[in-house]
Parts: sequence; C-alpha cells; structure tokens
Amino acid sequence: MGFSYSQPVKIFFGAGERGRIGEIAASFGHKRALVIADGFLAANGVAGEIAKCAGTDAVFSAFGADPDISAADDAAKIARDIAADHIVAVGGGSAIDLGKFVAVAAKTGKSAEELFYGDIPEDGLPVIALPTTAGTGSEVTGVSVMSDGKRGVKKPLSSPAFFAEAAVVDPKLTLTVPPFVTATCGLDAIAHAVEAYWCRRHNPVSDAFAEKALKLLFGAIDRAYDDGSDISARTDMSMGALLAGLAFAPTRTAAVHACSYPLSEGFGLPHGEACAFTLDLFLRMNSRFDAERLTALAKTQGFASADAMADEIVRIKKKTGMRSTLKAIGCADIASLARECAVHPLMQNNIRAYSAEELAEAFGGLD
Ligand code: ZN
Repeated sequence: MGFSYSQPVKIFFGAGERGRIGEIAASFGHKRALVIADGFLAANGVAGEIAKCAGTDAVFSAFGADPDISAADDAAKIARDIAADHIVAVGGGSAIDLGKFVAVAAKTGKSAEELFYGDIPEDGLPVIALPTTAGTGSEVTGVSVMSDGKRGVKKPLSSPAFFAEAAVVDPKLTLTVPPFVTATCGLDAIAHAVEAYWCRRHNPVSDAFAEKALKLLFGAIDRAYDDGSDISARTDMSMGALLAGLAFAPTRTAAVHACSYPLSEGFGLPHGEACAFTLDLFLRMNSRFDAERLTALAKTQGFASADAMADEIVRIKKKTGMRSTLKAIGCADIASLARECAVHPLMQNNIRAYSAEELAEAFGGLD
C-alpha cells in the first residue's frame, strides 16, 4: 500500500516553552507580532505575559468561543495597521483557528467573508500557535473552524494556508483548565486519534501516532480531571493531544466529527462533548465493519475488544458529567438530526458512510 505523510509545522514541546516565544520568533526572522488570545487569557494575565515574551503590546481578544468572520476582519486590520509580520495565537481551538484565518486575511488583504465563502489562497503571515487546552490539535492541522453569525453558518475550512509555522506546546499553560473542559477536550483528542485510525485515508504513520496518542490520553485523563495541578498528567494529555493532531492532520476525521457539527449547532454542545456524544456508539458500529483493525487497536490500549474500549469512553463521560442521551440534550427529532449527520462531508471519510436511516436507528438507542 503506497502512502505519503508530511507535516510542515515545527514543534517545540516542554514545560515553560512559552517563555521562549520571542527567541523562537526571532529564529524565524520575525520582528513584530500581533497576539491573538481569548478574553479569559487576556483577563488572567497569560496573554499579557506571552505578549511581553513576544516583545509586543498588541493583543486582540475581542472574539467568542465560535470566532466570527467579523472578528477576523477587525484583527486583520490591526495586524496591517501595526505592520505585524507574524501572528502569535494563544488559546484553545477558537483562538488558534482565528489566528490562522486572520493571518491569511491580513497578508492577502481579502475580506473574511471572501475567504469564508471563496477560495483560500496559500498565502498568509506565519503563525506561532500556543495551545492552552489539550484537545483540538489545531496547532498542527491545516483546519480553521470559523462562523458567520449573520447567516448562521459555522464550518471547518481546510487549506495548506492554515498550517501554523510553529507549535509551542507548553503543558504548564493547561494547569488552570477547569475539570469539565479538561474532560471534553481530552475526549475530543481521543476522538481525533480513533477517527484518524478508522477513517478511509488512514496510513501506517497516522496509525502509529493514533496508538501512542490513545495510550497517553487514556492513561492520564482521570488524573488530569481529578487534580488539574498534576503536571505529569497534564504533560501526558498535552503530548497525547499533539500526537492525535499529528494523526488526523493528513487523514481528517470521520463520522464522530460529522455528527459533532449538527450536535453543536442544534443543541449547543461544546465541540468535545459533541464528539464524545457519539464516540462510543460509532466505535461499536464501526467495529462491525472492520472488527480486525479495531479489535487490534483496542488491544494496544489494554482492552479485550472494541466494545470494552467503548465502555471505557462511556465511563469517562458519566464520571465527568457529560450528556449522553437525546433527552439530556433536548433533541426530539431524531430523523432530522440523522439527516444532517448523514450529509456532512466528513461522513464520507468514515470506514462506512452511514445513511440517515441507519443513523436514525442507531440514535434511537440513545434515549
Ligand atoms: Zn475535534
């Protein structure tokens, strides 16, 4: 079987690495940064500390959990006004996704709307991404999830332009993440690894990253949830999320993520909880179509079967207070949810592209 694997992002990993941001940027020849950090990090001083390390006082934080294209226009204008030659994006998926999008808008001069609905040129300011949660993997993927609040559209945009120049992964940045967010981001990362493994485009390199990612994530998620200050658990979670990102960056995700978009948009579930919602279900369903590979994956993690691995995911969801029934999320129309999930493009990357009827039957069990 032929395949290729490439990963353009330079990775710097280690506790305290954020302090080297200025040095890292200078090593690339960069001089002036615009820092993009969410409001929480602006308020708790982390954004200011990183801006200081990056040698700038330009911080943009006027955006929410689902970054809007209007915020991208505002930030791109600031980047041009201060003649920024790179973007430092600090935060969870939202800040990093926005930073990558702003980098293209600022460099090309195109409006965010033009980019969101049109082609994305392979041209942007370099981005240095610092994740503050262990989950999205956005620091090593070419994906940016953006929203157009005016028209009610949210979508993942994929482009080589959305690869950061460097990812600086400092597990210390995750020490203050609250337990529930630790759990949802952790299950998002577990979903990235599992989906990279079972999706149609998987390859031996992504498989190896996925197996190692799962080992770290399953081994540390309880410890990180129980005691957020456990730096060894946080380090394993950060490394696991990074490896999961490296696994799915070239393969993309599949059924679980296809369903996560309608679940987030329709019922307000945070991304990680929306992924966790169907992860155990698809693990059981997909293992009927590729029992050999998924049993082998489960065994690498110390589980007797794919079903036993699904049981472990259910246990984590229950322990951490995630919703797991249609009633709990307020969904009464199974057929319409199933239709939206079935037509999502990522469903085609699943080991089997389930029909709306198959999904409706499966979701019927989530009562
Ligand atoms: Zn995800």
